[in-house]
Amino acid sequence: MSIQQIPITKLVLGEEEERLVLEVIRSGQLASGPKVAELERVFAEAHEVKHAVAVNNGTTALIAAVEVLNLQPGDEVVTSPFTFVATLNAILAAGATARFADIGDDFCIDGSKVEAAITDRTKVIMPVHLYGQAADMDPISLAAESVGASIIEDAAQAHLAGYKGRPVGAWGQATFSLYATKNLMCGEGGLITTNDDGIADRLRLLRNQGMRQRYQYEMAGNNYRLTDLQAAVALGQWGRLAASTAARQTNAGLLTDGLDGIEGFIAPRAESDRHHVWHQYTVRVLPEAKLSRDELLAALAEQGIGCGVYYPKVVFDYDCYRTHPDVIADDVPHAFAIAQQVISLPVHPYLTGSEIDRIVTTIRGLLGAN
Ligand SMILES: *Cc1c(COP(=O)(O)O)cnc(C)c1O
Repeated sequence: MSIQQIPITKLVLGEEEERLVLEVIRSGQLASGPKVAELERVFAEAHEVKHAVAVNNGTTALIAAVEVLNLQPGDEVVTSPFTFVATLNAILAAGATARFADIGDDFCIDGSKVEAAITDRTKVIMPVHLYGQAADMDPISLAAESVGASIIEDAAQAHLAGYKGRPVGAWGQATFSLYATKNLMCGEGGLITTNDDGIADRLRLLRNQGMRQRYQYEMAGNNYRLTDLQAAVALGQWGRLAASTAARQTNAGLLTDGLDGIEGFIAPRAESDRHHVWHQYTVRVLPEAKLSRDELLAALAEQGIGCGVYYPKVVFDYDCYRTHPDVIADDVPHAFAIAQQVISLPVHPYLTGSEIDRIVTTIRGLLGAN
């Protein structure tokens, strides 16, 4: 008998996406146009910021956010050592030097560790709102203010997440991804939000060859544009985002209730001052658990439960970064420990109650906590 698979993510494209895409095709205007403008408008409004600038992916969004600050070679960006590699690649692509502050138990930069990574070359602090939970922004912004550094939030996984009652996206610049597996998606796409009129203006120039009007160039720019076809897909999903986020939150709550009190196992909880949007539901398997992390991972895969390790290593712990002249490998012991412990489980909005029960029962059984 074959076991029913529970996938780690499930994508649903509906009639609204079809309708809006068809509208774009029939309009004959496939490049950036009214759909991109509409996406920017609704996205900025929901994140309570003045501007959202759409670009062709989340990595580009990060690159543009750094480029627009006109850093000099050797200027430093302090970021999280526990993130998707795009965070680091974007810093390097923009010509800056990367440094790292260790993470806390919320998987994000530990605000109290930021100061130790700051030098007189620090120009940007780039927290990553990992798995859909905002980093602890108060100490991070205090540290940034103390040296006059800008903040760029990597909110690729955190659409509509919040910190102390305020949506992410407004601490300086924030970047979002619309990649195919993100909470809001259109295959490839990205957005940068900011309340700064000057930065928004320069981002719009940068994304369009530095051009204000046809053949009037104000800076050396690039082509970072999103298309109306992609914006139509994202807009089609937009109407469902609040409900699908609420379903993720419900699913995370049920999983954590079910997975409570297992020896050597930590189920995730939202910090009380954060609005967590559960892009990933990530547990920790400690050395004292009945199975090792990798044994549990293999056993879950065998039982048809989709799972993944985000991320298996500290982001700079590869030869290509260890030897990179613009990467400074700071001491981040907690990130190294956590990379050995994490497993992400299904939390997507289309999980059924019986699938959640099966995930809980399987893990309790495997870890001897029936
Ligand atoms: C997905 C992601 C990115 C990059 O976004 P793309 O749209 O894939 O380029 C950057 N940072 C983090 C944390 C991500 O998860």
